[in-house]
Amino acid sequence: MIIYINGRFFPLSEVRISPLDYGFMYGFSLFETLKSYDGRLFRLPEHLSRLREGAAYLEISKIPDDAGMERAIRETLRANNLKDARIRLTLSIGEGTLTPDTHSCQQPTLMVAAAHFTSPGDDIYGKGYRAIISGYRRDSLSPLSKIKTGNYLASLLARTEARQKGAEEALLLNERGSLSECSTANIFIVKNKRIITPDEKSGILSGITRQEVLKICLQSGDDVEEREVRPEELFQADEAFITNSLLEIMPLTEINGHTLGKGFCGDITKKLHSAYRDKVNQESI
Ligand code: PMP
Repeated sequence: MIIYINGRFFPLSEVRISPLDYGFMYGFSLFETLKSYDGRLFRLPEHLSRLREGAAYLEISKIPDDAGMERAIRETLRANNLKDARIRLTLSIGEGTLTPDTHSCQQPTLMVAAAHFTSPGDDIYGKGYRAIISGYRRDSLSPLSKIKTGNYLASLLARTEARQKGAEEALLLNERGSLSECSTANIFIVKNKRIITPDEKSGILSGITRQEVLKICLQSGDDVEEREVRPEELFQADEAFITNSLLEIMPLTEINGHTLGKGFCGDITKKLHSAYRDKVNQESI
């Protein structure tokens, strides 16, 4: 694997990041995961602007402009001979002093890595994922819930919890006990043909795929609601699905061992996924 770090490419075994990098020391970092479809990128500007907004919030400066970022991504794909890939951008505030002081960080660390990725097969999309409701929570009042920071402790622990219980995903509630999102995906439910998703006040990262689904719903005249969603509504939903840039739209067919809807991918989920794939085909760059 060839990795891009701060303007240069290195084989994985030769990469050096400072032990005093605050990304490592404190999780003081941001990241983006995006997907390359046969060498074409979907919603690249949206991923770059989310990274830039996060960087502005965390006061991480001196990062390449969008053209520089795009070049780094495309060259990483080329260097690794990849067409269908997951791409990971990581941006940390860089090396600082042992005494915690973000002002001591002079140069951010920007990393781009990519690995081969193919979408799950139709059988998996047909069956859908199982999820558990995690004991970990999202704080809907914390500004950090909206930012894609590298601090993924709760998400990763929730994911492990899910795997231990034989599920693929973990759903995190917020401090009010309402739905927020899954460990690395947003959630939607469908009830009486109405498409419902937790709103931004629910403690979610507003995913790029989520935005895309909302746009598709509006364009096709579907009934859609962004609002607080209680767990009972999920249990009683006709369909449910989760979204992120890699999985796109994955049906959720079981929660805490309870079958959701018919127990396989629902018609509305299928229709939305097909509309999403059309957009990917037409609008990737
Ligand atoms: N929420 C969380 C916590 C995530 O990690 C992700 C994946 N990046 C998402 C939602 C979905 O975001 P996107 O659609 O932009 O991939």
